[in-house]
Parts: sequence; C-alpha cells; structure tokens
Amino acid sequence: MQFSPELIQKNVPLKTLVTFKLGGPAEYFYTADNSESLSAAVEWARQQKMPLFILGGGSNLVVSDAGLEGLVIHNRCMEINSVDAEKHQISISSGYDFEYLVELAQRNGLAGVESFAGIPGSIGGAIYGNAGAYGRCIADVLIDARVLCPDGSIQTVDNSFFGFDYRTSRLKTDPHIILSARFQLETGNADEIKAKMDDIVAQRHSKHPPYEIGCAGSFFKNLPPLPGEDRRRAAGAVLEQAGAKKMSCGGASVFEKHANFIINTGNATASDVKNLAAMLKDKVKKEFGIELCEEVLYVGRWPAAQAAGHNR
Ligand SMILES: Cc1cc2nc3c(=O)[nH]c(=O)nc-3n(C[C@H](O)[C@H](O)[C@H](O)COP(=O)(O)OP(=O)(O)OC[C@H]3O[C@@H](n4cnc5c(N)ncnc54)[C@H](O)[C@@H]3O)c2cc1C
Repeated sequence: MQFSPELIQKNVPLKTLVTFKLGGPAEYFYTADNSESLSAAVEWARQQKMPLFILGGGSNLVVSDAGLEGLVIHNRCMEINSVDAEKHQISISSGYDFEYLVELAQRNGLAGVESFAGIPGSIGGAIYGNAGAYGRCIADVLIDARVLCPDGSIQTVDNSFFGFDYRTSRLKTDPHIILSARFQLETGNADEIKAKMDDIVAQRHSKHPPYEIGCAGSFFKNLPPLPGEDRRRAAGAVLEQAGAKKMSCGGASVFEKHANFIINTGNATASDVKNLAAMLKDKVKKEFGIELCEEVLYVGRWPAAQAAGHNR
C-alpha cells in the first residue's frame, strides 16, 4: 500500500512484535509492505526531524520500558523473491523472514544457507547483524544489496560495503536501510539439504527455549578465540562456570539449559533484563576478568543509570 501520513499510528505496543515479548510502545508506527512506501515513510520522518527505527522480526532487541521515540517502521517489504537457477542466485526483499530464504534455497536444490535454519528474524535484520550459525554467516553468501542511503538515494552496494565482522556490520554506525539482497548459493541435493536443516532445527530445539518463551537468542557475543585456537569461546560456557544458571532479576531469568539465554518468565520488564545482564557481566568480570559484550541491542529511552554501559 502507498504511504500516507494518515496511515501512521500513535502509541503502538511493540511487545507482540519482539521475541522478548516485553518493552514499551512506539510513539509513531507504520508498516511498510513495499520499498517505495518505506522510502516515503523515511522521508516523512526526516521532514518531521523525528528519530527513526527500522523493525524487522524484533528477534535481537531489548526495547526499553519507556518505548521508542519517533517513527518505528515495521519492514514487511516482500516484493522481490526470485531464483536464478543458472547462476545459483536468489534475490529477495528485506522484509521476508530469514527462514523463508533458507526454505526457498532448499526447495530449489541450492546449498549454502541451510546452516541458518531456525534463525528467526528478517533478511534485513540478518544482514545488519551478520547473523550466522554453525560456522557460516551472512557475509559468506551475500553478493550485494539495494540500500536506502541517508541522503534518500537508493544504491546497489556489494558485500565489501558492509564491513562485516563477527555479528556486526557497518550499518551499526552508518545507517543505511536494506531494501533487498542477492545471495550466491551452489548446487546441492534438496533432500540432503532438508536433512541438514532438520538436524540443525532439532539441535536448536534441544538447547533453546520454546518459541512461546520470550528471549532474543544468545544475549552476549562469543569471546575471541584463545591463542592458538581458531574457534570463538562460547560465552555460555563462561557464564555457566560463573554460576549464571541460578541467576535472575524480577521476571528475567537465565535459561536453565543455556547460560547465554536470558528469558522472560512471563512478566519481565526491560529493566529486569538489563539489570540481570549487568549482574552477569559483573560476575564474569569478577570471576574471570572477562568483559562480556551484548549481542542483543538495547533500543529506546532508558533511565540515565541504565543507559550507561550500552555496548555493541
Ligand atoms: C531463539 C532465537 C535464536 C537465535 N539464534 C540466532 C543464531 O543462531 N544466530 C544469529 O546470528 N542470531 C540469532 N538470533 C538473533 C536474531 O534472530 C538475529 O540477530 C536476527 O538476524 C535479527 O533479525 P531481525 O529482523 O529480528 O532484526 P530486529 O531485531 O528487528 O532488528 C535488529 C537490528 O537490525 C536493524 N534492521 C532490521 N531490518 C533492517 C533493514 N531492513 N535495514 C537496516 N537495518 C535493519 C534494526 O533497526 C535493528 O537495529 C536468535 C534469536 C532468537 C530469538
């Protein structure tokens, strides 16, 4: 639908749109189902001199209890979804679920993204944070993307533009909005790819909280590898050794099966989550001298005491 300022809603709760199932409302809220409307809404916010936030699947966020100032655009753009069988490439709009890309590739016998089976969120959010699992990440498969630049122009930029690193990209400091992306895959066997996906999803189910429990996946980033090793050290293992599994704060608690998951036991506030995260960081620092750094993003207005120490 075409953008019009009348379609903007006020004071819209975000709890049902974020996987943590907590936090305050969006001051202004608009759902964009095509890139033209999304660009027009961004331009409207710019004219109003309003802060802007792009919401994807809400699966990597802790939204503050006071909510988000300005305009939140929920990206549901799903215009492009095409498979180039000859080149083994998929082009897809940024509002599609990341899992849809994984399924589309599998149905077309294309390998390369099956390790991402079960990662929630949108294509846009996955690129923003260079999502990944089982040794693969977005940076390994992204060819290029169409982005809305801060000056309002739309450009196609290649993989190197994003400056990808572990769970991060240039977009964290240089706000471009991803409209669509093109991925390079390779020929594979659809049944074998499906079997791998099923196996990965089963492994995830055995370690992660069920979908009805609020969380945002791994809360802290894994740690750099120890000297002489190539694999990152699991933050969950360090947290477990520090006794994290017994820790909670208000309605926020460490998940019993995975110490790097903070869960909403039902009535958690964003402050409970942030306070528990601070307690966990403190504990790990005291026990092992290690600084944990959040993988999840804190967004919205936070009380001054809590706003200190946000890190990405
Ligand atoms: C149960 C569970 C398991 C998880 N497992 C994994 C895992 O294995 N690996 C992993 O990497 N992550 C994992 N995550 C975290 C999360 O799924 C990823 O970070 C995901 O890629 C976030 O995408 P999103 O669309 O939900 O982004 P959101 O949470 O909506 O937003 C995250 C950031 O991306 C920005 N953004 C969103 N869309 C766009 C866009 N189009 N253009 C520019 N910026 C945009 C937002 O503004 C925000 O700053 C898990 C989360 C859960 C709940």
